Order: sequence, then structure tokens, then C-alpha cells
Amino acid sequence: MGVTELYWIIVYIVAIGIAGIIYCYWHRRVEVKFLSRLINQLRTQNKVRQALNINHIPFRYIPLYVQLQQLLNTLPPPAGRDKLTGLINRVGLKSQLTRLMPVTEGTFVLIDIYRFRYVNDLFGFSFGDKLLLAMSERLKRQVSEQDMLARMNEDEFLIFFKTPLNETQLSVLQHTLQQPVSINDTLINLQIQVGYLDLSLYHSDVSQMLRRLDLALVRAKSSSNLVASYREGDDISQHRQLTLISCFPKALKNNELYMVYQPKYNVAGGNCRHAEALIRWNSSALGPVSPGEFIPLLECAGMISMLSQWVIEQVLMQLRQWKRSGLVIQVAVNLAIDDLNGNQLSESIIAQLKQYDLSADLFAIEITESQLMTDMTRAVAVLNKLKRAGVNVAIDDFGTGHSSLAYLKLLPVDEVKIDKAFLDNIDDDKRGLHILKSAIELAKGLDFSVTVEGVETQTVFDMLCDMDVDKIQGDLYAKPMTAAELEMNWRKLNRAEL
Ligand code: C2E
Ligand code: MG
Ligand code: MG
Repeated sequence: MGVTELYWIIVYIVAIGIAGIIYCYWHRRVEVKFLSRLINQLRTQNKVRQALNINHIPFRYIPLYVQLQQLLNTLPPPAGRDKLTGLINRVGLKSQLTRLMPVTEGTFVLIDIYRFRYVNDLFGFSFGDKLLLAMSERLKRQVSEQDMLARMNEDEFLIFFKTPLNETQLSVLQHTLQQPVSINDTLINLQIQVGYLDLSLYHSDVSQMLRRLDLALVRAKSSSNLVASYREGDDISQHRQLTLISCFPKALKNNELYMVYQPKYNVAGGNCRHAEALIRWNSSALGPVSPGEFIPLLECAGMISMLSQWVIEQVLMQLRQWKRSGLVIQVAVNLAIDDLNGNQLSESIIAQLKQYDLSADLFAIEITESQLMTDMTRAVAVLNKLKRAGVNVAIDDFGTGHSSLAYLKLLPVDEVKIDKAFLDNIDDDKRGLHILKSAIELAKGLDFSVTVEGVETQTVFDMLCDMDVDKIQGDLYAKPMTAAELEMNWRKLNRAEL
């Protein structure tokens, strides 16, 4: 071997050595990077699979990776982190916010998935979890590095936007979040409610700000565009609302609630064969409280079914008493959409009608058009059952709920109650009268019986008698009255028959 050849062999060996050193150095860096990410994951105890791509893991670490992942899945979530989504949870949020609070600008946003618990009921928890994960991914895309995203409880998420957002921008966010989600090939329509708080206007301590944000969300739930801000004074009205909700179960036991009945005028017979049962509450703590105030609260607090069961029982007892004394009348009770969750209510009504020995056509239910629209599929099954059993089903406050005409004819409904709003200004507004006539015509065309509500003047009453209307309800014919008053006025209400 010559000197030149030896030289090249040495060069070759040195080059391989350098390449080996570079490779080892690079490989070590990859490993260190992987391990530090793994340790980071361990710290936050998120699922490793979500953050690491298995292809990037050095081969010899795969068994360790799998073992760690199994271990992580069995560990409880760390304080401050939500196990399902990996987001900051309510506990973590408080400490993060306390740290953040010197900041005096920005927008807090509280986001709620409307009726999420029905998704859980209907499709099961694992389906519900997938929906929550999809929502958290959707939310992550809406925030920047400086913002903060947290999961407050089951279906409520909070975002702190460092750059303030106005209501228009939040409406766009609401619209984006509310796009249908596909889970297991099922397309889920969402309704997203957004409450917000402008930090520059309402900067205070963390718990007060979170409380105010909750109030903003309550306001959003009843606002038409589902986005609302906290307003000064919401705290005071919340105090009354909480008192009403907490007093209610006791009030029911202490007979502070009672029923009144508003007779409906039967146009064809000139008589009275129907009435609507309306609840009244004379609270020992707060005096008379109108149903317009406490019913939405009970609905919000998930307590409406407690009232509905009580009302149904009172009405059926009253009907039995009237039947025994020969007074024949059909009475309608108002139900909320939450009452139509599952078969429980329809089965209990049918069983109670038997128990009280009443024929089903003496009983009717009313459900408002707007409530019906919130969960039509669920309502239809229950309404069908009641209708088949012979119970009269009516859509209440028709014309206020923007129902789709295509749906209307599919609904198992006997009667449509045209809302009082249709009567406003019909005396001096030709278009108003035209709209009323069209609503009546539409309902009649779909074979519904038609009742017009809120009739207060003789002129309107006479006008309606000449139209294709079946029943007229309003203070002119009869105001809501107790059962005893209705018995006393029975002859007067049926004077055309005398
Ligand atoms: P609704 O079912 O549409 O009942 C008709 C409302 O209009 C009643 O108000 C009645 O008193 C009122 N009204 C009737 N005729 C006239 C009139 O000529 N002029 C005016 N200005 N008002 C008239 P009320 O009793 O205050 O009830 C308000 C709403 O509260 C009801 O509207 C119904 O949605 C709800 N509600 C009442 N009782 C119950 C109940 O037992 N259960 C449920 N879930 N909701 C109820
Ligand atoms: Mg009603
Ligand atoms: Mg009504």
C-alpha cells in the first residue's frame, strides 16, 4: 500500500467519524426534544397522543411512549386542567385570572351550548364528549397566544380576549361556533349563547366579574340574537330571581299558588265549552308575582316540570268536580318544552285521566310556538302520543315564534291560538287586518281550529265573529277567574243558549 492510498484511507475514516459525531449529536437533540415534550405533557397530564405524532418518536422510545400514555389515561386530571379537553378548568382559571387582573382592557366571553344535556340524554355520554372536544377545537381556532381559553363546566367555555371585541364581532364568533358539527356521521345543529363583559367598563375582583359574566349569559339566553353583555342593575334583579326560585318549592306546598280559568267564547254556538288554566302566585315573601316573571325563571332553573305536574293535577281534580256537578268544559293547561322530554308526561297524563275517570277530550295542552321551535323533533313524538290518546293539542302565541310553514303541517296539532300581537292597530291599519286575516286563513287551510287571544274590544270581537274563527279568548268576553267564579258566571257565559 502506497502513501497516497494510506492517506485517503485515513481521510475516509476521519470523515466517517465526523459524520457519526454529527449524526449522534442530531439524534440526541431529537431525543432530548421528544423527552422534554413528554415531560411537559406529564406536567399538564394531557393525553400524549393528542400532542405527539408517533412517526416522530425514536423507535426505541415507542414502548416507553405507550406505557406512559396508558399511565396518563389512568391519572386524575391535574388541579387546574380539564381532563377531557386539556383546557384550563374553573379552578385553574381563578388563579390565572388573579395573576392577569392588573390588566384593565379586554373582553370576557362566556359561551354556552344550548340544550347540551339533551345531546347526552339522546346519544350517550361518549357522543356528548366528542361534541365537547369538537367545540373546544373550534374555540382554540378563535383565540391567539395572548388570549385565554377555559372550560368552566359541562358545556360552558370562557375566553378572555386581550384585544377588546364589540358586539358585532361577538355575533360573528357566535355564528361561527354555531355551525353544525358532524359526530359519528350525525349532523348536530347547535345553538350557541354568548354573554360578555367589557373589562374597561366593569373591572372588579375576579369572583364579581365571573358572577357578572354569568348574568350576561342569562341575558343572552333570552335575547333574540343570543349575544348579550352584562348591564348595570342585573345584580339586583338577580337577587329577586334567586329569591323567587328558592321560595318556589315551599310556596307550592304552602298553597301560595292557585289556578284561575279564562273562558273561551265558542263562535258557532255563542257559548262557552273551553277554558284556559292560568297559574297565579301570591307569594308570602314578595306579594303577587306574575307568571310572565316566574315561569321563565323556573324554565331556566330546570324546575318547570314541578309546576306542570302540580297544575295538571289541580286541573284534573277540578274537571272531576265539574263533571260531577254537570258542568261540561274542556280545560287547557300551558306546558313548557322541557315537559315534553321523554314519555313520562304523556304517560302520566293518560294514566291520570283514567284515574280521575275523565274522557281525554276534556283535557287540552298548549305549547308556545317559540318553545316548540327550539326542539321540534322531541316535542312531536310526545304531542303525537297525547293527540292519539284524544287530548287536544294547541300551538300557543302563534305568529311570534317564526315557525316554518313546511313544519306546521307536520305537527300533531288540533288548534292554533293566534297571538294578541296580531290585533294591535288593526282598527286603523289595513295591512294589520290583512295580516290577521292571512294568519287565520293559513291555519284554517291546514285544518287547524283557530282561537284568537287577547280580544279586548267589541269592534274586534264582532269582526272576528264574521271571520273563520272558532273561539275568541280575551278580557272582553271573560277575564281569568277562580273555579268558584266560573261556576257563578256559567249562565252568563252561556246566555245565547238560554
Ligand atoms: P298565554 O298562555 O298566552 O295566556 C294568555 C295570557 O294573556 C294570560 O296572561 C291572560 O291573562 C292574558 N290575557 C287574556 N286575555 C287578555 C286580554 O284581553 N288582554 C290582555 N292584555 N291580556 C289577556 P297570564 O295569566 O299573565 O299568563 C301569561 C303567560 O304565562 C301565559 O300566556 C302562559 O304562557 C304562561 N302561563 C300562565 N300559566 C301557566 C302555567 O300554568 N304553566 C305554564 N307553563 N305557563 C303558564
Ligand atoms: Mg296559553
Ligand atoms: Mg297565548
